[in-house]
Amino acid sequence: MSKFERSYSPLIILGLLAALVVVVALWALDRAATTAGSGTQRQAGVPGEVIAWKLVTTWPKNFPGLGLGPENFARIVKEMSNGRLSIHVYGAGEVVPAFGVFDAVSRGVAEMGHGAAYYWTGKIPAAVFFSAIPFGFTAQEINAWLHYGGGLELWREIYAPFNLIPLAGGNSGVQMGGWFNKEINSVEDLKGLKMRMPGLGGEVLTRAGGTAVTLPGSELYTSLQTGVIDATEWVGPYNDRALGLHQVARYYYYPGWHEPGSTLEFIVNRDAYESLPADLQAIVTHAARAINQDMLDEFTARNNAALQDLIDNHGVQLRKFPDDVIVRLHQSTEEALRDLAASDPLAKRVYASYKDFLEKVTRYHHISEQAYINARDLK
Ligand code: CA
Repeated sequence: MSKFERSYSPLIILGLLAALVVVVALWALDRAATTAGSGTQRQAGVPGEVIAWKLVTTWPKNFPGLGLGPENFARIVKEMSNGRLSIHVYGAGEVVPAFGVFDAVSRGVAEMGHGAAYYWTGKIPAAVFFSAIPFGFTAQEINAWLHYGGGLELWREIYAPFNLIPLAGGNSGVQMGGWFNKEINSVEDLKGLKMRMPGLGGEVLTRAGGTAVTLPGSELYTSLQTGVIDATEWVGPYNDRALGLHQVARYYYYPGWHEPGSTLEFIVNRDAYESLPADLQAIVTHAARAINQDMLDEFTARNNAALQDLIDNHGVQLRKFPDDVIVRLHQSTEEALRDLAASDPLAKRVYASYKDFLEKVTRYHHISEQAYINARDLK
C-alpha cells in the first residue's frame, strides 16, 4: 500500500458509506412517492379513463329551463372532473319515452335520469311529496325540508328498493294555474273539466269535479288544440311560452295552487354511482345541488319578462282564480292528503314529516317572508 493509499483509505470508506446512505434515502423517498401515487390513482380510477354515462329525461331535448337543467349538469360535471366523467343527455323518446325514465335508470339502461317524482306515484304513492303538494312547500321551503329537515333521507329510503339514489335537481318556483279556453268563475266551472295535471294536484282537481290526466310536456299543445283536453297546466310563463300554449288557449290563470315550488329530480342508478371513485361521486352530488338552485334562479329571472311578452304581444288574458275556487281546492287537498296517508304506510310517514315541517316553517314565514312581502307592497 502506498503512502497515498494509507492516508486516504478511511476517507474513501466514509465516502462510500455516505453514498450508501444517500441511495437508501432516495429509495425510501421514491417508495413513499410511489405509494402515495397509487393511492391517488385509486381515487382517480384508471389513468386517462373517461367514464361515459347516459342521462335520460322526461323533457324534450334542450327544452328551456327544465331540459337545460340536466344539460348544464352534464357540462359542469365535465368541467369539475376535468373530462373524466362524460354524461350525454337524451330528451324524452330518444332512448326511452318520457315516463320510462324511472324504470330505465332503475334497470341500468341509463346511469341517470332527470324528471319529477310525482310522475312515479303509480309505483310509489309517497313520491308525490318530493315534487309538489298543492298549497304546500314553496321552493325555499322544500329545499329546507329536503336538505335540513329529513326529507332527503326519506326520499332515499323510498327509492332504495328500486336501486335508485334521488337528488334534488331543480325547482320551478310557484307555477302558473294553467291555460283555459273558458273562464273559471266558480267551483261549478270545474265540473267536467278535463285538464292535464299530474301528481296530487290532479287528484285534487278530480275531487273538486274535474277530470285530471297526466301527459308529458311534448303532448300538451296537440292535446289542447285537438280537444283531447279542455285545459292544461305546465310550468310558468318562461316554459309555457316555449311550448306555444298561448296559441291554443286564451286565459292564463294564477296562482299555481297545485305546484307552489315543484322540485325536479336527478335519479342515479346505485350500482353506477357506487362504481365511481369517491371524488366523482362528490362531483355528481354537488353538481346536482348547484343545478337545483341554478334552475330556480333562471326561472325567477325569466318568468316575468315572458309573462309580459305573452300579454303584450300574444293577446294572452291573465286571470286570477276566484277565492271560492281556491277554498274548495284547499279542502279537497286536505282530504286527498288524509286519504293518501291512510292508504300507504310509507306515505303516512312522509306525510307526518312534511306536515310537521310545513306547520313550523309556515309559522316562521308568516313573520318573515310573508310579512316582508306585505311590507314591501305598502306604499
Ligand atoms: Ca306543472
